[in-house]
Amino acid sequence: MPELPEVETTRRGIEPHLVGRTVRRLLVRERRLRWPVDERLGDELAGLPLARVRRRAKYLLIDNPRGSAIVHLGMSGSLRVLDGEVPLRTHDHWDLELDDGRLLRYNDPRRFGCLLWQPAGEVHPLLAGLGPEPFDGGFDGGYLHARAHGRSGPVKHFLMDQAIVVGVGNIYAAEALFRAGIDPRRAAGRVSLARYEALAQAIKTILAHAIERGGTTLRDFLRPDGEPGYFEQELMVYGRAGEPCKTCGAPVRAAVIGQRSSFWCGRCQR
Ligand SMILES: [Zn+2]
Repeated sequence: MPELPEVETTRRGIEPHLVGRTVRRLLVRERRLRWPVDERLGDELAGLPLARVRRRAKYLLIDNPRGSAIVHLGMSGSLRVLDGEVPLRTHDHWDLELDDGRLLRYNDPRRFGCLLWQPAGEVHPLLAGLGPEPFDGGFDGGYLHARAHGRSGPVKHFLMDQAIVVGVGNIYAAEALFRAGIDPRRAAGRVSLARYEALAQAIKTILAHAIERGGTTLRDFLRPDGEPGYFEQELMVYGRAGEPCKTCGAPVRAAVIGQRSSFWCGRCQR
C-alpha cells in the first residue's frame, strides 16, 4: 500500500509536469473506484491552468482556481505522466489530458483509490478532522503527550489514529516506536513527555529518510513501464518476527495490536 513517503514522492514527481498546464479533458474509462468518479469533474478541471499539486495526509490535491481534484492511491494506485501515444495497460482507469499533448494516467488494479472534487474555499469531508502533518512545526513531543493524556489504549494504535497525526502507517509506527524504545503495547497515556519527544523525532526522521530514498525513483513517473513500488528501506523490526534484533540480538516479537500486525523487541522497547 502506498504510504506517506510514496505519496509525497508521487507529488514531487508529477507536479513539475502539471503546473501551468491546462487540462484539455478528463477521460474516465472506469468510474467505479472506491467512490464513483463524478461525471461533472471533467468540466471543473478543464480550461483553467493547474496551479500546484499539494499533499494532505495520503491525499494528493491538484489545484486550479475553481478547486481541487482529490486523488487517493488506495491500496494499489499509481500515477504517471506520459506522452499521449503510450498504449493502455490493464487497470488504466483515467487520464487527465494536458494542453501539451501529455497526460496524467491513473492505474489501480484493486480500485480502492479515488478521484473526487473539492470546490475552492471548501474542505472535503474526507479531509476534515485530520490531525497535523508529521512535518508540521506544531507536531512534537509536547503535542503527542497532551493528546495522549488519559488514554489507556496502546500507544501504537494512538499513533496510527489519523486524527492525532496523519501518515504514520503500520510499518512506520513499528519502526518509530523501536527507534524511540517504546513498547507498542504501552498505554498511550503512560508514555512520558521525554519519550514522546524521542518518538516525534523518530517519526520525522524515518519519514524524511524514506522520502529522500524515494527521490531516486522520480524518473519512474515518466517511464511508460514505470512501476513506482515500495521504497527499499532497512527495517529494524517490521516483518522480522523471531529474527534477532539488530541492536541487541533478542528475537523480535510479534502480536496483533488494534487489529494490525505489530513487531517489537522485548529488550529494547519498554
Ligand atoms: Zn533489541
